[in-house]
Amino acid sequence: MSAGPILQLTSVGRRYNEIDRELVILDDANFSLGKGEMVALVAPSGAGKSTLLHTAGLLERPDNGDVILDGRACGSLSDEERTAIRRNDVGFVYQFHHLLPEFSALENVMMPQMIRGMKPRVASERAQQLLDYMKVGARASHRPSELSGGEQQRVAIARAVANAPLVLLADEPTGNLDPVTSSYVFEALEALVRQSGLSALIATHNQELARRMDRRVTLKDGKIVTVS
Ligand code: ADP
Repeated sequence: MSAGPILQLTSVGRRYNEIDRELVILDDANFSLGKGEMVALVAPSGAGKSTLLHTAGLLERPDNGDVILDGRACGSLSDEERTAIRRNDVGFVYQFHHLLPEFSALENVMMPQMIRGMKPRVASERAQQLLDYMKVGARASHRPSELSGGEQQRVAIARAVANAPLVLLADEPTGNLDPVTSSYVFEALEALVRQSGLSALIATHNQELARRMDRRVTLKDGKIVTVS
């Protein structure tokens, strides 16, 4: 692991072509996420938060500029190489849990580890530990539909970190929850990030949660800028 930032966006551009105009979402945007840092991305709907997270997480390619993950420039890599890096080094959490409905909570957390080739027993042990840590260990055998919204998000967070990624990217991870549940789920997420030394970029509309992170950034005229 390099000593520099875990994640860097250098002069990243991202545009969508519409029928009569070009929509510029990122315009030579720069950003740097330090190791162990937890940064809030706060911007109104439609500002480009998802685009930024997808680009940073190698789900989308920038139109120009590069994404550097742990010192590795990812722009010129093949799709296969980008997929491998994303699978190993990036964890995603979305507003909706996106758990597989026909599998138990435990199996959902085992899945990314199995895809990576881990033995079922080892994957199962780690999955149970993560669910315990997220305080949903007792619900391990339940399917997503049998869990509350807060529990589903806890499982989704456990799944996102199952392969011990370098970076956690979260798109409104508590946006779908009531304020009290949201606060509890965020507390668990925060503890996990802090305890594991993970670096995280978390989009949220919730100012109170944003204040609990190390820094806050927003999107302005296609740039990523710091807000107080
Ligand atoms: P946010 O996450 O902040 O709500 P998004 O990144 O989802 O914002 O979207 C930013 C803007 O880009 C929106 O105006 C959206 O309609 C547009 N957009 C997002 N994805 C696409 C796409 N694949 N094609 C065209 N426009 C898109």
